[in-house]
Amino acid sequence: MNLEEKLKEIFGYDNFRKGQKQIIEQVLSKQDTLGILPTGAGKSICYQLPAVIQSGVTLVISPLISLMKDQVDQLNVAGIPATFINSTIDDFESNFRMQQVENGAIKLLFVAPERFGLDYFNHFLQHLPIDLVAIDEAHCISQWGHDFRPSYVEFAQHLQDLPTQPTILALTATATPKVTEDIQNLLSITPYNTVKTGFLRKNLRFEVVKGVDKRTFLKNYLKNREKGESGIIYASTRKEVEEICEWLNRNNFKANRYHAGLSENERKTNQEQFIYDEIPIMVATNAFGMGINKSNVRFVIHYSIPATIESYYQEAGRAGRDGLESDAILLFSPNDVRIRNFLIERSEGDDSHKEHEYEKLRQMQAYTSSETCLQRYILEYFGDEGQACGKCSNCLDEREDVDITVETQKVLSCVIRMGERFGKTAVAQVLVGSKNKNLAKWNFEKLSTFGIMKNFSQKAVGELIDFLAAEGFLSVTAGKFPTLIVSNRGAKVLKGQEKVHRRATLIAEKTVIHSET
Ligand code: ADP
Repeated sequence: MNLEEKLKEIFGYDNFRKGQKQIIEQVLSKQDTLGILPTGAGKSICYQLPAVIQSGVTLVISPLISLMKDQVDQLNVAGIPATFINSTIDDFESNFRMQQVENGAIKLLFVAPERFGLDYFNHFLQHLPIDLVAIDEAHCISQWGHDFRPSYVEFAQHLQDLPTQPTILALTATATPKVTEDIQNLLSITPYNTVKTGFLRKNLRFEVVKGVDKRTFLKNYLKNREKGESGIIYASTRKEVEEICEWLNRNNFKANRYHAGLSENERKTNQEQFIYDEIPIMVATNAFGMGINKSNVRFVIHYSIPATIESYYQEAGRAGRDGLESDAILLFSPNDVRIRNFLIERSEGDDSHKEHEYEKLRQMQAYTSSETCLQRYILEYFGDEGQACGKCSNCLDEREDVDITVETQKVLSCVIRMGERFGKTAVAQVLVGSKNKNLAKWNFEKLSTFGIMKNFSQKAVGELIDFLAAEGFLSVTAGKFPTLIVSNRGAKVLKGQEKVHRRATLIAEKTVIHSET
């Protein structure tokens, strides 16, 4: 069978994109497969084409109930019989759809993983000729993923009960090496049958903006864009969405809003106006974007720090799906991290879950403190190798490269002298010789490193510590109260085997300059 011809015939596309053909060939030859392809790469075709070619039914497992209808509608428009069963339809309709599937009138059936816990549904599956089970957003199965869902693990256990032993195809856009391993183990997929196309998005230009007035930045940025260019501004709360959207409109930038607190009707209208280029700017919470397929988004601006690198890359990745140059900008303010910490503290979930969330946030924050190429930082996070992109805000940073080996040694030796049991604030306080009462009981003033950086402000030393952690000279333990530990790389600096450079000049802010008389 010529797969290219089938692709053209059914979907009208001339060529496969990277990874698609290999995945489809593996699936058709009954090999359980994991596909890791970036957002927008075309994961859906990987199960849709086999579903049409094969004689039986394909089950598609997805956590995104709200998107199922759109996905099914799109398939039906393309002449592919598909349906979904979920909590949005009543029992009568659901029975009718199950009958349709049993009669062989449906090729793709979309369901949420929770359905597999229901007896009647498992019973129904027993009679079906299921060829393929496609698992969308497969990272949800892993505790190390950014969106762990226990229902995915339970569902994986039910897979073994299916009588037809269908082929398994797990798909995700965001998998760190740990998450990849988890998916492979829980679904018994070999590394050999894992297809990964790499996370690089060449046409994205990443930028981290610090220490600015965010609204002034936005105004200037938007003024300099072509009129009518599409972009998304992500804010962290509904309230913030409302405020920014209103402010933009007051300043003559046409913007719409999107968050879970709006009526379904308004969300739909706003989304459509954005997709059809009627209103170019969308201000939204992270509720916006999943399954939205708009190719000409020219910029994605994060008004405050997202919770994880996974969600950041997924959201930023909504820019430039058409392959044209696009911006991914993060406006950073330390206060936003405090808000995120607060949200984690207040969230449901046990301590180990929270610890995990703190760790994810810390890695996200390290992205903003790092001075290496931003694209490369993200690629390495996902276990890919990358070269400097040459166009992100770090690659283009022209400030002078300063040798800060001596300052680094001071910080690292202080961390060691404090027993590697304290966090950033305490270490910075000791280095600047703070008189803070909380420190008194530890007798730190007896340490040789007490006040060794007294010419610097505590804030500057704190930023230096963030930088050293982001670049891997210090390790940071997970949890609510992270402590600093000198890493192997840091130990080399202490031994004089490695030098440290930083572009931001560390200014001895408290140096007293005597005027000449
Ligand atoms: P993902 O799920 O990986 O984010 P989708 O499956 O939604 O991506 O596909 C993104 C877009 O790319 C869709 O509009 C899809 O129709 C299109 N697409 C997928 N495969 C191809 C292809 N081989 N050629 C052209 N367009 C494609």
